[in-house]
Amino acid sequence: MASPEIVTTHSEQDTFALGQQVAAVLQPGTFVLLHGDLGAGKTAFVRGMAAGLGGNPDDVSSPTFVLIQHYKGRTPLVHVDLYRLDSGAAVDDLGLEELVSGAVVAIEWAERLPRPLDGSVSVRIDDLGNDRRRITIER
Ligand code: ADP
Ligand code: MG
Repeated sequence: MASPEIVTTHSEQDTFALGQQVAAVLQPGTFVLLHGDLGAGKTAFVRGMAAGLGGNPDDVSSPTFVLIQHYKGRTPLVHVDLYRLDSGAAVDDLGLEELVSGAVVAIEWAERLPRPLDGSVSVRIDDLGNDRRRITIER
């Protein structure tokens, strides 16, 4: 694996732009595993990903009750948020491997996955205070 890329962003827009740039070169079938506390900027990054994949970033919301959302784009984006999931068993039932065909799949709270997923890019967002975020990407 290549060494991680570490970028500091200074605004939500910066994080959006980074998500856009990262997603633009992803192949369909890639999982993007997002790690970081509540309010870190995971959903902001996913909004950028939607733009980078040719979709509409305004479609992307923080799903409150919905675990999985599908967005149209040049490459479709599937958005999974595992925040409300507390048992690994339920994740197994989501059929994540089937979701990925032809799409990029972004997963918030990926640490709640019960097992590693092949073909994944990992994105960790750390809040450095104020509007600064350290974003570590391994692909
Ligand atoms: P998460 O999905 O990780 O819970 P969100 O993307 O929903 O986080 O929210 C991130 C919050 O932090 C937003 O209110 C956003 O405006 C704010 N913010 C401030 N600085 C940044 C930054 N550099 N990158 C991303 N979000 C930021
Ligand atoms: Mg979120």
